[in-house]
Amino acid sequence: MDALVIGGGIAGMQSALDLADQGYQVALVEKEASIGGKMIALSKVFPTLDCCSCITTPKMSAVAHHANIQLFTYHEIQSISRNGSAISAQVLKKPRYVDEESCTGCRQCEYACPINLPNPFDLDYGATRAIRVPFSTAVPQYAVLDINNCILCGKCEKVCPVDCIDFTQQPETFEIVTDAIILATGFETTSRFAKKEYGAENNHNVISAMFMERLLAPTGPYGRVIRPGDGKEPDSIAYVQCAGSRDTTLGVEYCSRVCCMYAIKQAMLLAGSLPLADITIYYMDIRTFGKGYEQFFQNAKAMGIQFVKGKIASIKQDENQNPVLRVELIDEGSQIVEHTHDLAVLSVGLLPGYNPEGIYKVSRADDGFVNTPQFNPYPCLTEQPGIFVAGTSAGPMDIVDSIIMSGSAASEAAAYIEAMKNTYAPQKESENVYA
Ligand SMILES: Cc1cc2nc3c(=O)[nH]c(=O)nc-3n(C[C@H](O)[C@H](O)[C@H](O)COP(=O)(O)OP(=O)(O)OC[C@H]3O[C@@H](n4cnc5c(N)ncnc54)[C@H](O)[C@@H]3O)c2cc1C
Ligand code: SF4
Ligand code: SF4
Repeated sequence: MDALVIGGGIAGMQSALDLADQGYQVALVEKEASIGGKMIALSKVFPTLDCCSCITTPKMSAVAHHANIQLFTYHEIQSISRNGSAISAQVLKKPRYVDEESCTGCRQCEYACPINLPNPFDLDYGATRAIRVPFSTAVPQYAVLDINNCILCGKCEKVCPVDCIDFTQQPETFEIVTDAIILATGFETTSRFAKKEYGAENNHNVISAMFMERLLAPTGPYGRVIRPGDGKEPDSIAYVQCAGSRDTTLGVEYCSRVCCMYAIKQAMLLAGSLPLADITIYYMDIRTFGKGYEQFFQNAKAMGIQFVKGKIASIKQDENQNPVLRVELIDEGSQIVEHTHDLAVLSVGLLPGYNPEGIYKVSRADDGFVNTPQFNPYPCLTEQPGIFVAGTSAGPMDIVDSIIMSGSAASEAAAYIEAMKNTYAPQKESENVYA
């Protein structure tokens, strides 16, 4: 292999495609059962309001069908070692308990399975089964069995038309030998429970913005926007900005960069799906840094979305589980008022998705994201030669910046691969080694 890309979100997919299109042989390793990352779960994207699935699915398909990309979903890297220019990665293949060669993704097993579980794709709202295709547009379309929740009743095995369920599958390991690695392990969101004073633990009507993405998505858990607390359609929705970022008490001092824009986007989408609802965004500063973003903000104001410069001290609830926001109105002499809404959405921040220190010997910066010691001239370089970084594993950024950085990481990796080819002889292939 010429390059190994770790993480199959938009950044990893773009890096893999950019390298593969130049003729390099690429292995893409994703820990989940499908590629797509966070983007495939979003509703629409700012600032164009294009359907997220319509942008992401063709990329997922292009990755899966590219002759120069070998896709390893449900795999993880256990360790890496170096020998001259070659980097050897020990890869763990986690058991799906389904034979990938024969599974057709027909979902008969899923319909037959009697075990209902919270659906992780919908952030544990909605339901799924112990054996399932991860979501409707998953790539690859293979079922995966959650053995920890399976009761081994065998119903899935009986209905599978191609007899491909195998409860005896074991983890396997193999090696990938490569010249370069691109880390694209992405982000996680801060917890909506992190700020106790927002009361999300005791009030189902205080939700995270990521869950609002699922409520707004056509493939969401309920097919429309309702309050998870009681199924009521909300007439009044509040957004709480910086609910996990720029907050020293949470140890997240940085701005997560995307939350202002995604809150404005969601507010516009809500204005479309609930035309009679009042939508208020409580903010400290609105940061609309990208191309067309300020205009997007102005359009939202013109649509009637309320922007209130206010700090939210706490969120209590009334007898109807309505969130009651205690607000310090910054532009009105720090006056304290209480506003009641039907639903409060916390604009959660971005945290590093993975700690690469143990395996890749790549350190993390003070903010916890992958360290890029020459950030200004070479934003994709880590301190390890041949190991590059792309997308939100390097820090909070939107999709456009993730894609730009992925192209840049692919170019850096290609230049490095060429330099190594001229310096070292090619590695010998052996059994159980992808070289
Ligand atoms: C609520 C919300 C709404 C948003 N809306 C927008 C929007 O409208 N427009 C916009 O531009 N941006 C938006 N964003 C930001 C956008 O989601 C990110 O910019 C983008 O998803 C980053 O992609 P990524 O590939 O860097 O990370 P991810 O999408 O997190 O992908 C990382 C991938 O790496 C995998 N991975 C992690 N660790 C490992 C490992 N050890 N081994 C193998 N694989 C691993 C993960 O499973 C995942 O598939 C939004 C963000 C949020 C939270
Ligand atoms: S495991 Fe069998 S029943 Fe389930 S999706 Fe695959 S082919 Fe269909
Ligand atoms: S054996 Fe497990 S996965 Fe299959 S139907 Fe029964 S509970 Fe579901």
